[in-house]
Amino acid sequence: ERIRIGISSCLLGQRVRYDANHKLDTYITQTLGRHFEFLPVCPEVAIGLGVPRPPIRLVGDPNDPRAVGVKDPSLDVTARLAAYGRDQAERLGAISGYILKSRSPSCGMERVKVYGQGGAGRPGRGVYAAAFMAERPELPVEEEGRLGDPTLRANFIERVFAYRRWQRLVE
Ligand code: SF4
Repeated sequence: ERIRIGISSCLLGQRVRYDANHKLDTYITQTLGRHFEFLPVCPEVAIGLGVPRPPIRLVGDPNDPRAVGVKDPSLDVTARLAAYGRDQAERLGAISGYILKSRSPSCGMERVKVYGQGGAGRPGRGVYAAAFMAERPELPVEEEGRLGDPTLRANFIERVFAYRRWQRLVE
């Protein structure tokens, strides 16, 4: 049995980004893919934004940011992304970990720029990731950008295996 892992779809090479491109990560697909079965999720496509689409960014309070259109701030998708994150946390009950796309206003786990008055970016978490992680605080989560670090990588894999063992005990 391969361990199931949620993942941002663009990391698998799916052309789901706002500009119809992808962010294929071959370490994930070729190395981790031998051990893990990936369940891809693109929250921006899932809530109906389409490909291509206007890019969004985070604005406001870094602890509770809003996701709005870069060019058109009246396009506010915060509530839809958060609701989808809560839904997915329940729907993906069988996963044992999650790999998120770094720096995304939807999927980013940390250090996503949140723009405030004056335009300076402060670090925050993507809206989908925040909602999902709040529902599943015990689930091992990592960003692809941090998996390049051997220590963080080993730590994530260990946490996933430990979590899977715990899931088997309670199943
Ligand atoms: Fe979709 Fe998330 Fe990738 Fe953006 S980072 S394209 S929302 S999967």
